[in-house]
Amino acid sequence: MTLLSRYAGWPVIIGAGLAGLSAALRLNRPCVVLAPSFSGETTASTLAQGGMAAACGAGDSSESHAQDTIRAGAGLCDPAVVQRITNAGPQAVERLLQLGVPLAHNADGTLALHLEAAHSHNRIVFAGGDRSGASILHSFYTHAKKQENIHWLEASLTGFHAPNDTLQGVWTSTGFIPTRHCILAAGGCGGLYQYTTNPLANRGISLALAAHAGARLVDMEFTQFHPTALASPDHTKRLSLISEAVRGAGAYLTLENGERFTEELAPRDVVSRAIAAKLRQNRRVFIDGRHLAGPSFSERFPGITQACRQAGFDPERQALPVQPAMHYHMGGIAVDHTGRSSVQGLWACGEVACTGLHGANRLASNSLLEALVCGQWAADDINGQTNNSSPLTAPSSPTPHYTTDWPFRAEMQRHLGILRHKQGLQEFLEKTLPHAKTNLCALTASFIGWAALHRDEQRGAHWREDSPGPLPPSRHSWQLKDLPLSS
Ligand SMILES: Cc1cc2nc3c(=O)[nH]c(=O)nc-3n(C[C@H](O)[C@H](O)[C@H](O)COP(=O)(O)OP(=O)(O)OC[C@H]3O[C@@H](n4cnc5c(N)ncnc54)[C@H](O)[C@@H]3O)c2cc1C
Repeated sequence: MTLLSRYAGWPVIIGAGLAGLSAALRLNRPCVVLAPSFSGETTASTLAQGGMAAACGAGDSSESHAQDTIRAGAGLCDPAVVQRITNAGPQAVERLLQLGVPLAHNADGTLALHLEAAHSHNRIVFAGGDRSGASILHSFYTHAKKQENIHWLEASLTGFHAPNDTLQGVWTSTGFIPTRHCILAAGGCGGLYQYTTNPLANRGISLALAAHAGARLVDMEFTQFHPTALASPDHTKRLSLISEAVRGAGAYLTLENGERFTEELAPRDVVSRAIAAKLRQNRRVFIDGRHLAGPSFSERFPGITQACRQAGFDPERQALPVQPAMHYHMGGIAVDHTGRSSVQGLWACGEVACTGLHGANRLASNSLLEALVCGQWAADDINGQTNNSSPLTAPSSPTPHYTTDWPFRAEMQRHLGILRHKQGLQEFLEKTLPHAKTNLCALTASFIGWAALHRDEQRGAHWREDSPGPLPPSRHSWQLKDLPLSS
């Protein structure tokens, strides 16, 4: 066993997206950030286009932001968490400015604010036109690199050592780090699906490792499909996103004959289902921004324009073919308001965690806000703890070897997509459960499938076609022992 004794006893942060970097910048002691790459390309954070939601415009309030969040969440948000995170929005914007993120401003010096679907005010701060995530991550990374207490380890998490539900260390691809504090900020799981806007490496591997360590998972069935990814027949790449800000600016959704067929700024799940229904009828769906007044499309949305042109489309001259794609996982590791999971010493924040902010359907641009503030709160919680000098228990054997190959992207899309059916879910689980004990992708996918099978209703992003009707709102949590895994 290679022991990375240099980092022994330090907090270990898994992931260098916004959640991980936000936590790292807040920790007041030596810590190590672990990620397979620090170029940003393996993060969803860097891909974010629209920006970050925060009630900082005239006439807006965090109460209004909270109400919109709760409405989108279809009965499953935790109202206390929603209020706490939306209250933190304006301070989070201050944090962006303090770190030098070049947020767009109006001519009068006020912050420029986008409108996005299901928000009742313009409240999305943005940078670089539609390159908000890249601008934010660049500023956070530049500052973190200057901080001497933050160390960097290019490696992957391969397991947790957590006897009796108490963290004693983490396994990485380069060795074992004994520690009592780990902040898991490893992002989402869209790469499990055939069509996704996420980096394809985001396949829920660390979520599965946390489950193996005993962590409780919650709301796993709620996977959000973005209505407007640029349609492509190539399944080997992630799909480019056409941000909600484009519809917020007034672009139309049309059929091939130019007919409009849905309310463009309805919540994501509603728009995604409307598009999916048309695609099922072999219609084609387009987003059309040619009529937008004001600055040209390419000035407003330079990143989207570039991606479209690379794919052979010119948004200033033609309508763009779109399809829904898996975009965000509302569920994840169940955490309390400080980010603590059910495993002592394991915190989680960002997309891998489930705070209760999003409920059954995330409101657009709430995830960067959640990643930023919850990363800080997890770090604050660790900062408040005194150092424990008692010896850590070394593992008696190496972590079990898990596999991560995933041949079921198409099945995931078919059975756990926008429209779901009991029979399809059962067929899916028959395929994945036999592998779930040893294959980490199969385990996360099985949790999603199992939770979807046990939610016999239509709620938010989870739509069971065979549902007998709505049930009283309830959130479901699961642990490894709840799955019927073969021994
Ligand atoms: C195309 C796109 C556009 C979006 N636009 C917006 C938007 O405008 N506004 C908004 O609020 N949200 C948006 N989102 C969602 C938002 O970007 C993400 O939810 C958020 O950035 C997640 O941040 P994170 O830090 O939790 O994860 P990520 O940014 O995905 O970072 C995860 C990190 O964990 C690392 N990692 C993963 N597995 C391991 C492992 N086993 N070992 C070590 N490291 C690991 C990764 O390499 C990466 O460094 C968008 C998402 C996408 C995909």
